[in-house]
Amino acid sequence: MANFNTHLAVGAVAAGLGATMTMAAGVVPQNQLLTLTMAGIIGSVLPDIDLEKATPSRMLFSGLGVVFAFIVLFQFKKEYSIAELWAVWIGVYVFVGYGVFAIFHCRTKHRGIFHSILAGAFFAALTATIFDQAFNEDPVVAWFAGLFVFGGYIVHLVLDEIYSVDFEGHTIKRSFGSALKLIEHRSMRATMAMTAAFLIVAIAAPSSERFFSIVSAPNVYSFLQKRMLPEDRWFEMKTEPVEKPPVETEANMLPQLAPMTPPENSANGQMQ
Ligand SMILES: [Zn+2]
Repeated sequence: MANFNTHLAVGAVAAGLGATMTMAAGVVPQNQLLTLTMAGIIGSVLPDIDLEKATPSRMLFSGLGVVFAFIVLFQFKKEYSIAELWAVWIGVYVFVGYGVFAIFHCRTKHRGIFHSILAGAFFAALTATIFDQAFNEDPVVAWFAGLFVFGGYIVHLVLDEIYSVDFEGHTIKRSFGSALKLIEHRSMRATMAMTAAFLIVAIAAPSSERFFSIVSAPNVYSFLQKRMLPEDRWFEMKTEPVEKPPVETEANMLPQLAPMTPPENSANGQMQ
């Protein structure tokens, strides 16, 4: 399997390239690009959460502790004093970072259910739910964060599978086929539990209607295709500004996005 540093490096590059594309298409406000990249990087180390005593698992549980500490804190922000809020924050952080960590590692084995595409879908929906409910983020941004976590997850699983092929000896290691899988075939119970967890967060997640109308809009893809490569020479500075993205980048423009009208229609509309 690929090691932590490889996952981190490949995940960071993949997330950065993905964020660059969303920036060019203007589908997400610019101030969210760093958040999306971070979501992609976290997703790219998340499948190894079940690797006990390893850095990724320790770091991920610390991170989850911080996120859940804030989620709980937000519920009491008006009622409690700062000292009480500190106590709540530390309590939740220690509970998740150490308590849940210990219980989790008693019950999971490496390359089990958490090393599956189903778990990636669960974390994607969980991310969208946390962004929406705890951080009051726009549902489109929340689902893009979920998409980046899912993308990072897939990058991790594919990378592990690639590393199970020994290129120099042209042999296939025993771990081949255990990294990229839809569900956990060795344990139906774990698969059922993860399916149930996915359904719960999917129900709690914000509406994905506007998100899907943006990612499935044909004008976004034709725009990206057009902007993908330079028209003439590489890195040549243009005097005229490049074509405006099909979707406004301002956060306050997002609610007006869907349903999107194809560019031909809007051009016709202006001429009439
Ligand atoms: Zn792995």
